[in-house]
Amino acid sequence: MNDQLIIFDTTLRDGEQSPGASMTRDEKLRIARQLERMRVDVIEAGFAAASNGDFESVRAIAEAVKESTVCSLARANENDIRRAGEAIRPAARGRIHTFIATSPIHMEKKLRMTPDQVVEQAVKAIAWAKEYTGDIEFSAEDAGRSEIDFLCRIFEAVIHAGATTINVPDTVGYNVPEQFAATLRTLIERVPNSDKVVWSVHCHNDLGLAVANSLAAVRAGARQVECTINGLGERAGNASLEEVVMAVRTRRDVFQCDTGIDTTQIVPASKLVSGITGFPVQPNKAIVGANAFAHESGIHQDGVLKHRETYEIMRAEDVGWGANKLVLGKHSGRNAFRSRLQELGIVIESEDHLNHAFARFKELADKKHEIFDEDLHALMSDEATTPELEHYRLLSSRFHSETGETPQAEITLAVGGNETHTCAEGSGPVDAAFKAIESVAGSGTELLLYSVNAITTGTDAQGEVTVRLAKDGRVVNGQGADTDIIVASAKAYLNALNKLHSKLERVNPQV
Ligand SMILES: [Zn+2]
Repeated sequence: MNDQLIIFDTTLRDGEQSPGASMTRDEKLRIARQLERMRVDVIEAGFAAASNGDFESVRAIAEAVKESTVCSLARANENDIRRAGEAIRPAARGRIHTFIATSPIHMEKKLRMTPDQVVEQAVKAIAWAKEYTGDIEFSAEDAGRSEIDFLCRIFEAVIHAGATTINVPDTVGYNVPEQFAATLRTLIERVPNSDKVVWSVHCHNDLGLAVANSLAAVRAGARQVECTINGLGERAGNASLEEVVMAVRTRRDVFQCDTGIDTTQIVPASKLVSGITGFPVQPNKAIVGANAFAHESGIHQDGVLKHRETYEIMRAEDVGWGANKLVLGKHSGRNAFRSRLQELGIVIESEDHLNHAFARFKELADKKHEIFDEDLHALMSDEATTPELEHYRLLSSRFHSETGETPQAEITLAVGGNETHTCAEGSGPVDAAFKAIESVAGSGTELLLYSVNAITTGTDAQGEVTVRLAKDGRVVNGQGADTDIIVASAKAYLNALNKLHSKLERVNPQV
């Protein structure tokens, strides 16, 4: 027996809820296309009722993705489910994922409902969802702290009502593997109609056990795992897709199931998500970390050269390492540029947009002769920022840094359409640049994080800078890329200010 393990990716919904990881519709679309290329079974595209922007993103993904099922999250109320249903309508295969809290504390304090009312509401939710699709997932929020008798009761009722997947989330990351597996085993045994659905788990990584808990649940009979690229997600994140997929693939002898994932797309997906969110991947991260397949010590190297399997349980090329190939150069034409963007799933809205982007590409190709996919993603992330959201824009800059002299920055900005010139001194050129920008913006924000990463290898690589700013409890990440890291820093800082300036309000469910 070799069952299929369904991979449900929630990078675009749960992953996006990491502080500062919010993405634009175009960015989400690019990630969705990559997930489809990787043959993810279900893409949770967002939470349609959270805001109009979220609705539009889910809908755009439902229109674009053909191979994977596209799913929207919805609370168990009529409005949420109708919004989700409308958003997934264009999908070739659409799923509604609805949830309600089932732990005594949540039912009493948050929902102010009795257990009977909660069951009744869940059943109603399935009925509304059925008007849109036959593919319905039900989650018991905070299942980890719910009473098992009540879980059995509500699951039996929603399966009877038409739910096709039952998800057991460890919302707060409190479970440990053996105990979580026992919970799954008990539920599958005790719910009378459990054989009619796929059992799913959704684990958070607060104790570093998300992947271990998910895999233990698979051993106990779960056949869907909810996960994210790079383990992105709220707090310590979710189970990471690449680790779950490769554990199951490498140890088929233990798991008796496999996924349909094209694993050679894993590293490109990881880089794409890291580039778009600005969350770098730690070098020792399993599968997708820069050192995951590096054999530094002499003894290991010798062993690997003589016989690869001495120290390697997987091959780097099987997960997509070494796949970053030269795609375009200085002499590439407009058509080559356009078709590469299309292959990457980057949407070009008009000829104007293309011309503008192509001009930027030529500028970059002059500075950096070899252009990789990662460069194009970075370029288009910059480019994708819609002008109406760009309150602040960098027009020109000049930085001075010399031994024994105080570093200085001179910057010309467009602020809401007006040109402003500013200069400042700082402890280094980046500090001077940020001070110069602040002297105009006066944002009163707190700088939480500043990081620089080389997008590709070589000293002519573009530097990608992430700046995380906080103000009144809101946290945003700004990104900027340039072959000059000080310019990239200024762009990243302005990008973060622009995000704070556009007051996007949204609700974040805890599932
Ligand atoms: Zn979650």
